Amino acid sequence: METISRRENETRKRNVLVVDDEMINRMILGHILKDEYEISYASDGKQALEMVEKNYDSLSIILLDLMMPVMDGFELLGILHQDKRCKHIPVIVLTSEKNAEIRSLQLGAVDFIPKPYDMPEVIRARVKRSIKLAEENTLLNAVKNDSLTGLYNKEFFFQYVMDHDKFHPTLQTDVLVLNINRFHIVNELYGHKTGDDLLKSIAGSIRLFLKHNVGLACRCYSDTFYFYIAHQENYQQLFLDFISEVDKRSGLPGISLRIGIYENCDKQLSVDQRIDRAARACNTCRKTYTSSYALYDKELSEKELFGERLIRETNRALREKQFQVHYQPKYNIEGDKPVMTSAEALIRWIHPELGRINPGVFIPLFEENGLIQKLDNYVWNEAARQIAEWKNELGINLPVSVNVSRIDTFNPKLEEEFLEIIQKNGLSPNELMLEITESAYSKNSSGLIEVIDKLRSDGFIIEMDDFGSGYSSLNMLSSMPIDILKLDMGFIRKICDSDKNKRMVEIILEIARYLSVPVVAEGVETEEQYQILKAMGCNVIQGYYFAKPMPPEELKQKLIAEKAQ
Ligand code: C2E
Ligand code: CA
Ligand code: CA
Repeated sequence: METISRRENETRKRNVLVVDDEMINRMILGHILKDEYEISYASDGKQALEMVEKNYDSLSIILLDLMMPVMDGFELLGILHQDKRCKHIPVIVLTSEKNAEIRSLQLGAVDFIPKPYDMPEVIRARVKRSIKLAEENTLLNAVKNDSLTGLYNKEFFFQYVMDHDKFHPTLQTDVLVLNINRFHIVNELYGHKTGDDLLKSIAGSIRLFLKHNVGLACRCYSDTFYFYIAHQENYQQLFLDFISEVDKRSGLPGISLRIGIYENCDKQLSVDQRIDRAARACNTCRKTYTSSYALYDKELSEKELFGERLIRETNRALREKQFQVHYQPKYNIEGDKPVMTSAEALIRWIHPELGRINPGVFIPLFEENGLIQKLDNYVWNEAARQIAEWKNELGINLPVSVNVSRIDTFNPKLEEEFLEIIQKNGLSPNELMLEITESAYSKNSSGLIEVIDKLRSDGFIIEMDDFGSGYSSLNMLSSMPIDILKLDMGFIRKICDSDKNKRMVEIILEIARYLSVPVVAEGVETEEQYQILKAMGCNVIQGYYFAKPMPPEELKQKLIAEKAQ
């Protein structure tokens, strides 16, 4: 279709209007052009204007004499110049007077044909060139602008940004990305026409801004606009002015915009990369309900990028076994000599390029996007396999506790998964202990109690992890189904600082004893901490004082050595 219409376009005869009061002149021009063009004639400006009004969309060019009765060429030129519908029709002025040229140019004429018409080739060439230029220009305008808002489209915006940089290489510039919050709701609530009007109001406000500032803007797609503007000092004021302008123009209540700003952009970056930075800033405003703007923050953004990279690479890392489970021994300190009675499984990511990444970095990310379930399941399986291996190879029973994320507790198949894991590895449930963080208890208490009750009735041992780190209250202990309490590291760190802190731990230990719940103190690093806890009757200790988390081979050696003692 396209090729046919293009071909038609190329072969069809263009329409030329010759306007001259002298018949002989009309005849000469007609004779010169008749083979290539469809020609119509007018003998004065008024008659020409009537013909233009009827045929403005099919006329390709007007050849216009200046000196005519009724309405002269200048007057007609002036009228056509003002008429938007005729913008695409080039006018060539027919004149014998050199000094009429400047005035004609100011009125929009594109070229001249000198009288008398004694050079037909030159006339044909000028007409042809003027038509070609005008058509190219029209085509360009059609694709350059977004038809709804009249702003540039994305492709031209990118091109113009590069041109802009060329012309103003040292100008400090800012990149902005503007978006409408919940634009689909505007469309759904008020209809698409209103949605379109809102987009036009924003475009109008942008144009107004650009009238007073150096720069350019485009509508990239849907409700997303880009700006490339000279650096602004006061975005707070500018933002308020812009929002009120949009409110005024759109007349819609409660429209909220979000704007991301990448200030003083690095021109070494590609336009795409610069836009991306502004878009990232824009995304940080996504959760607000009112209009807001945010500046691009390099550090924050790099952190985010790093996080995204980790998420992207997780599946491959699982396949390639980049995740390793390390084990940190827990020692029972009730007797004369500390005895290793269990261990905690802690995940490590040994990344081929980034080296070792600690769980504190990736666990929170994985909790946000659900990857945690996959990873935890991997750790549980691995730990169970390890317990079985030590049992079979060394004849040593070392129960291992695994971490169960808050997200896992929403999994309806959680119980099933744990039962399957222990069955597969020939373990009894009390060999795989489950650490559930305290914050999970406070956030999903009724659902969680139900899950835990089931797991406990199957024989699993439940440890409440990080006790005291959140908003837990001591009376929660009596109502929660738990088997072991893990005191948060924060308490241990402060235990030597003051009597008050020490007393706090003492009270928790007393209550736990009263409830017959053994207590594990985590993060014990010094002899002093150890002695205090032992004196207070703490049951189990986990911490660097005894051992750091270690790979399974190392723990195996430790187990063998301790067994020999
Ligand atoms: P957590 O469950 O409270 O684990 C204890 C953390 O304290 C571990 O950090 C451990 O290496 C560290 N630690 C142990 N003793 C000491 C000590 O004496 N001093 C100090 N400063 N730190 C000590 P890690 O391995 O970096 O793990 C951090 C957190 O990541 C864990 O806290 C846990 O919440 C989470 N995590 C680790 N592995 C897993 C996993 O497989 N699944 C889930 N869902 N979370 C995990
Ligand atoms: Ca833990
Ligand atoms: Ca903990």
